[in-house]
Amino acid sequence: APDADWDRAVALISSASEVALACHVSPDGDALGSMLAAGAALRAAGKRVTASFGDRRFAVPRLLRFLPGQDLLVEPARYPEAPELMVTFDVSTVDRLGTLAESAGRAGELIVVDHHPSNPGFGTLNLIDPAAASTTTLVERLLHRLGLPIDEAIATCLYVGLVTDTGSFRHSSTTPAAHDMAARLVAAGPDPEEIARRLWDSSPFGYLKVLGAVLGRATLEPEVGGGLVWTFVTRADRAPYGLPYDEVEGIIDVVRRTGEAEVTVVLKEDDDGAWQVSTRSRGGVDVARVCSALGGGGHARAAGFTSRLPVEETMAGLRALL
Ligand code: 5GP
Ligand code: MN
Ligand code: MN
Repeated sequence: APDADWDRAVALISSASEVALACHVSPDGDALGSMLAAGAALRAAGKRVTASFGDRRFAVPRLLRFLPGQDLLVEPARYPEAPELMVTFDVSTVDRLGTLAESAGRAGELIVVDHHPSNPGFGTLNLIDPAAASTTTLVERLLHRLGLPIDEAIATCLYVGLVTDTGSFRHSSTTPAAHDMAARLVAAGPDPEEIARRLWDSSPFGYLKVLGAVLGRATLEPEVGGGLVWTFVTRADRAPYGLPYDEVEGIIDVVRRTGEAEVTVVLKEDDDGAWQVSTRSRGGVDVARVCSALGGGGHARAAGFTSRLPVEETMAGLRALL
């Protein structure tokens, strides 16, 4: 986004007394982290802040419950219907706002803070930078321009977005700027060891059993898309262990270790019986293009979509695009 847009965002936010914040449905560390970081900073600056995400079953995933500042969250039903100023975080398209999309449509001003290259710029003001490793990168920039301090709680939220969206500093977004940001944030107090343990080393035992079943049925198709590895997780897999849906979201990080695979796909059946499909690429295939064609979106190397078709039909549709 050009400098003038950042200046306008600073002017709009500075003059507002009330701000409504939103992130995408089924929030990940970057979505919730960027929204809560901005919320904490704006509240400290004396503004009235409401924050939410538009899931029909509104709940913060267990893995993210350690993020500070969650008293800012309200259920979607209690969200302002026509906020004067609304700001969205990590939301690539209006439909990713879920039930909060209507509030966005009625907002006086809508500032979109995001790093998805596929974002059409659905705000009245768009702060979109596809080169940013995370949306929290853009929030740090915004808080800096607003002259708002970053305390330990805010730094924790910003760091969680950065460390999750860079895949623990392994993905192509891991630039000197990303490491510089991590250094600044860690200097403000967060403990990377503690955060890593909460995010990745705190699964219930049932997760191990489900993972075993899911890895056991993984399929390698060397001739598809330069090498395709895929598997799926059903509700029935999770049921015996009472394992919530959000506990299996990270399974793709294990499946994508497959050296023979260029593309990784994991289909996850949610509690409504819909399939949330996650895709990853090593760079040879643009999975954002593939997932956009199937009604979703994302980044070139990490994208997703929702399917209501049986697993084999969804896979047939995917193979045809690889
Ligand atoms: P994940 O596989 O980790 O859920 O998502 C990877 C990337 O794909 C994220 O950047 C996310 O924004 C995007 N993504 C995942 N599911 C969907 C979807 O249903 N629709 C859209 N537009 N993007 C998605
Ligand atoms: Mn996200
Ligand atoms: Mn993100």
